[in-house]
Amino acid sequence: MDKCVVVVTEREQGELTLASLECVEEGREVADRLGAQVQVILCGNEIAPLAATLAAHGADRITLVEHDALAQFSADGWLQALAPVLLQAHPVLLLAPDSGPIRAWLPRLAVRWRLPLVGCCTRIGIVGDGYPEVIRHTYGGACQERLIWPYATLVCAMLTPGGRGVGTPRHGRIAEVTIVRPKLDPTSFRDRTLRTLPADPRTVPLHEAERIVSGGFGTGGPGGMALVKQLAEQIGAALGGTRVAADRGWLAVERFIGSTGQIVAPKLYMAFGVSGAGQHLSGITGSETVIAVNNDRTAPMLKRADLGVVGDLHQILPILLRKLQALTAASDAYHGEPTAASDAYHGEPNAPTDASVAHRTLEMTP
Ligand SMILES: Cc1cc2nc3c(=O)[nH]c(=O)nc-3n(C[C@H](O)[C@H](O)[C@H](O)COP(=O)(O)OP(=O)(O)OC[C@H]3O[C@@H](n4cnc5c(N)ncnc54)[C@H](O)[C@@H]3O)c2cc1C
Repeated sequence: MDKCVVVVTEREQGELTLASLECVEEGREVADRLGAQVQVILCGNEIAPLAATLAAHGADRITLVEHDALAQFSADGWLQALAPVLLQAHPVLLLAPDSGPIRAWLPRLAVRWRLPLVGCCTRIGIVGDGYPEVIRHTYGGACQERLIWPYATLVCAMLTPGGRGVGTPRHGRIAEVTIVRPKLDPTSFRDRTLRTLPADPRTVPLHEAERIVSGGFGTGGPGGMALVKQLAEQIGAALGGTRVAADRGWLAVERFIGSTGQIVAPKLYMAFGVSGAGQHLSGITGSETVIAVNNDRTAPMLKRADLGVVGDLHQILPILLRKLQALTAASDAYHGEPTAASDAYHGEPNAPTDASVAHRTLEMTP
């Protein structure tokens, strides 16, 4: 039997999660070094259209585990459906996103089969004769833990979402697709998902956020951070920041970003008064577009940024907020009742300036 790395993937609202695609790509790299195949498993119903994406990100074989009872997540259902498929696959490494649903069933399987299981992993290496080496940060990021099990036949690792980002897909890449229709007894599921609530961008876990607005020590205190938060609310983004800001109590501890905090991969990352220390930058490597405002033109954050603005955030943020408010009011008026702001937007002499700002702002929005 071919050596294989199994990647268990997930979908949300019909789409594969970014964390799943990161796992497929990590699995691909590990498999190439081991001379192994990548088998990707996806559970659900009506999931066949997602196979092409899995192939494009590196799958050699795709197993679609299809059943109507798997339309919504159930830890019992996933265990019943996946255990036989995993037994048959006989992998040397099982990779999955470190997500709530995976944490609900994979540890139970690991205990049942007496397998090593590691969460919060950042990378998988290979040592010696081809043992997977699981790497993660410990002691608040001061140390790296490298774990191997030379006597284990299978190691399970849950990868921290956002750690590596998703690469460019190779469209047209071919993979072998197998559809498995398990016999399931949904009445025996002790847990089931009743409904999935849409995520609130202000409270969404940072690693899932599509837009993040961050504040650092340069915000100068709770007042400056409140402006950053206001901008986040205005553009439907999650609030983040640096460890220094969190240490000072200007930001909730679970909201600081970096090697010892949250690893994020948003489409848009905006940083205000953040110097761009290595520990912070290593948490945003997967970000698509980075915009930074800093009054020191030599700040590393500006070098990392796609759009850097050298200036005082206390001057720039209030102007940006005012412009966005005017834009929102104008847009509301366009779709509904006319307001003073919309009159100004359409009729006042300074309307062209506002319009051009609106256009630039929209360009910055992913
Ligand atoms: C083991 C270890 C782990 C760490 N892990 C993390 C981590 O996970 N995440 C993390 O963030 N940090 C981490 N740190 C801390 C990290 O080294 C930096 O100290 C921290 O990221 C700096 O935060 P900062 O950018 O907010 O502050 P500073 O470095 O003080 O930068 C403030 C910036 O704001 C700019 N500024 C000041 N006033 C203004 C203004 N009015 N307008 C515009 N710009 C202004 C300044 O020019 C400066 O660039 C760690 C440190 C250690 C030792």
